[in-house]
Amino acid sequence: MALVYAFDRAAGLGRDLLGGKGFALAEMAQAGFPVPPGFTITTEACRQYHREGRLPEGLWEEVEAGVRGIEAATGRTFGGEGLPLLVSVRSGAPVSMPGMMDTILNLGLTEKGVLGLSEATGNPRFAWDAYRRLLAMYGEVVLGIEPAVFENLLEALKAERGAERDLDLGAEDLAELSARYKRAIEERGKRFPEDPWEQLREAVLAVFRSWENPRAKTYRRHYQIPDDLCTAVNVQAMVFGNLGEDSGTGVGFTRNPATGKKELYGEYLKNAQGEDVVAGVRTPEPLARLKEENPKLYREIEEVAGRLEAHFRDMQDFEFTVERGKLYLLQSRAGKRTPEAAVRIAVELAEEGVISREEALLKVDAGSLPALLRARIDPESAPEPVLRGLPASPGAAVGHAVLSPEAAEDWTARGFDVILVRPETSPEDISGMFLSRGILTARGGMTSHAAVVARGMGVPAVVGAAGLRIDEEKKRFYLGEHELKEGDVISIDGSAGAVYLGEVALIESETGEELEKLLSWADRVRRLGVRANADTPEDAQRARELGAEGIGLVRTEHMFFDEERLAWMRALILADDEAEAETALKKLFEFQRADFRGILEAMDGLPVTFRFLDPPLHEFLPPLIELERKEAKGELAPGEAKLLKQVRRLAEQNPMLGFRGIRLLLLRPEILVMQLEALLTATKELREAGLDPRSEAMLPLISDVREVERAFSLLEPVFERFGFRIPLGTMIETPRAALTAGAIAREVEFFSYGTNDLTQLTYGISRDDAGKFLPAYLEERVFPYDPTERLDEEGVGRLLRLSAEEGRAANPDLKLGLCGEHGGEAHSVKFAAKLGLDYVSASPYRVLTARLAAAQAEVEKRAQA
Ligand code: ADP
Ligand code: MG
Ligand code: MG
Repeated sequence: MALVYAFDRAAGLGRDLLGGKGFALAEMAQAGFPVPPGFTITTEACRQYHREGRLPEGLWEEVEAGVRGIEAATGRTFGGEGLPLLVSVRSGAPVSMPGMMDTILNLGLTEKGVLGLSEATGNPRFAWDAYRRLLAMYGEVVLGIEPAVFENLLEALKAERGAERDLDLGAEDLAELSARYKRAIEERGKRFPEDPWEQLREAVLAVFRSWENPRAKTYRRHYQIPDDLCTAVNVQAMVFGNLGEDSGTGVGFTRNPATGKKELYGEYLKNAQGEDVVAGVRTPEPLARLKEENPKLYREIEEVAGRLEAHFRDMQDFEFTVERGKLYLLQSRAGKRTPEAAVRIAVELAEEGVISREEALLKVDAGSLPALLRARIDPESAPEPVLRGLPASPGAAVGHAVLSPEAAEDWTARGFDVILVRPETSPEDISGMFLSRGILTARGGMTSHAAVVARGMGVPAVVGAAGLRIDEEKKRFYLGEHELKEGDVISIDGSAGAVYLGEVALIESETGEELEKLLSWADRVRRLGVRANADTPEDAQRARELGAEGIGLVRTEHMFFDEERLAWMRALILADDEAEAETALKKLFEFQRADFRGILEAMDGLPVTFRFLDPPLHEFLPPLIELERKEAKGELAPGEAKLLKQVRRLAEQNPMLGFRGIRLLLLRPEILVMQLEALLTATKELREAGLDPRSEAMLPLISDVREVERAFSLLEPVFERFGFRIPLGTMIETPRAALTAGAIAREVEFFSYGTNDLTQLTYGISRDDAGKFLPAYLEERVFPYDPTERLDEEGVGRLLRLSAEEGRAANPDLKLGLCGEHGGEAHSVKFAAKLGLDYVSASPYRVLTARLAAAQAEVEKRAQA
């Protein structure tokens, strides 16, 4: 199998081998788009390189043949006399990793070539500019020299010459600059090869190596991209956007990536090379301006955009260069978009008939939907912004301004929300961007690094805010005339491009029309039910509005966290005579009856599963240490001596494995009975009021069917007294319960998988202490993902499968639900759908994720069948 393919021969080889960029270049070349000729070195070559630590056997001969092919297509010679063939060397992994890997332009240029190039173009300034750029990019990417070295030399020369912009430097200045660059390279013990072939070989190796650079690794880790995908290398004839005013370079989106609106969107920079736009170094002009300035070119771009979208059947983000009036495409890929835009684009593409509704469902990342409910600035109370920039990524954020990724780490480690404030961002800032609630930059356009990455991460961003100045040394920054210091609170509105001093009030957003439509398509396709976890009528109401078809988990202990109730709860736990316990129970009964009523009312006509009390006792008692400290100082209040004794008696080494759940309920049966009485009373009252309450109840933390039998025997008399019953089930959250599911299933009407505890107990990982090692485990890739977030299919999932099968075999009417945090995580939801569970239950705002993911599971299953 070859390791190198010319673009026009590579179609059909697939993205894994060609990388995203190579794949798109091949597709475009085949379909007749104007793509400069070139070839792709496959990801397999990169893998071989990393395996063997050297260029793979035979690769170089293939590369030479590839270059000959470009020479034939362009009529130019690599390293030749006169107008030389120059190429770009571009990395491209199978999944898009914007700005992660490095590109070298103008490769193949030598000092001798500069002369040929200036004669052939009649433009010595251009030729020297190309050369000095090559020196800097090669110096940076291949030789590992800090980019600041070259930037400083450029700035110094500009200062010497009194030049304000790069463009004010002439040919001789750039020749001088090239000489200084070379000197700087040599001073660092490095060498720039004047042999084009050596340049090419070193550049290819550098791209291979860049797969392992730290920022690429950070990105992969964050997005769970496998380390062995590797990158392809694309070698392509250069076209020049910096040959004068009739040349330029730009980036286009076939639809608006922030809103999803169908309009050609993008940016254009006259007389410039591509990197200038992407890096956000110069702020480009909106593409729309070309409409007046150069309508013919604008129409041409528009036409190409339409064809690209039709060809790739998705919104495209494309890079182009215009060389002396002729348009070339350099790249096209599915455009990164905000969650808002993703929804609108998917729905509109389906309605335009470009894709089917099922495909539309797959085009939206289910996990991103909660971001659509992202907070926005409350228009009622918003003050005047102090600064404006571009609305690069929607949503609003409030946080402490940090001026570096290090500060972002520092402040978040101390528990603060932060907003990253930078002149512009580069891949070095990625780690800080991940931590930030919002991003604010002084420079760059809507397709700058900051804008693209923020949209991809779903973080609100305002970019190109010209009135922002930053003094990194003094840790100060200026919003217009306001001077602030690092750590001061600011607010940004990424939908409007506005920046505010201090904290601005935020409100929740509503689901829009397109989202409603997409989810209605999802609801028609999916078979998995979606409920919500909610502990209050407000949460239940919200969940219902978001499409929940019931409540899968009401944590009744959560109703006791307010102060007055807590006191009664304590009284009940600590009571040492019956009268005391009786009074406390009566109080708690009243609270619960009212709570249950509220939730059942909000969910009228839909099932609501109440879980009997599962209080890790320590959460309800005063901390032992505090009481002991008082005792040591002789400061115990009169009643507290007794309290201390009781707290000591109940103290546990590991409360999560302790006296909780069913264990507490069986040994304090009056609590169990009180709760059912409260629930049945609430149910009865609502029925009498003409409503349709559908209450269900379940037992927490059981590990043995005998616990279930014992509990039900305590509950039976209550049902008899009330004259009606409600469905009873159990949580399945200990491995033993899962392993003995058949026996338990005979006793109950439903199981509800409590995958938080089940994960904790299956792994033997304490949820409360996992912070000590789990982050490092993920960092080191011991675990591929965090099993407390995403359900582990091999282990925990196996328990689910086994118990579901045995449970259903023993009781064919058994209903199966899942109510851990995993119920709102897209992968886990798909797994639940595959298992054929009846429903998942998610936090209210993640109901959206569950609805879409459940539908996606169905579409994927059909595609496989
Ligand atoms: P990235 O992955 O960062 O987008 P690219 O490989 O697309 O990197 O290269 C960066 C920039 O260099 C692009 O914006 C593109 O315009 C420019 N570029 C790449 N190849 C060529 C070429 N053959 N001719 C002209 N410009 C090029
Ligand atoms: Mg790049
Ligand atoms: Mg690119």
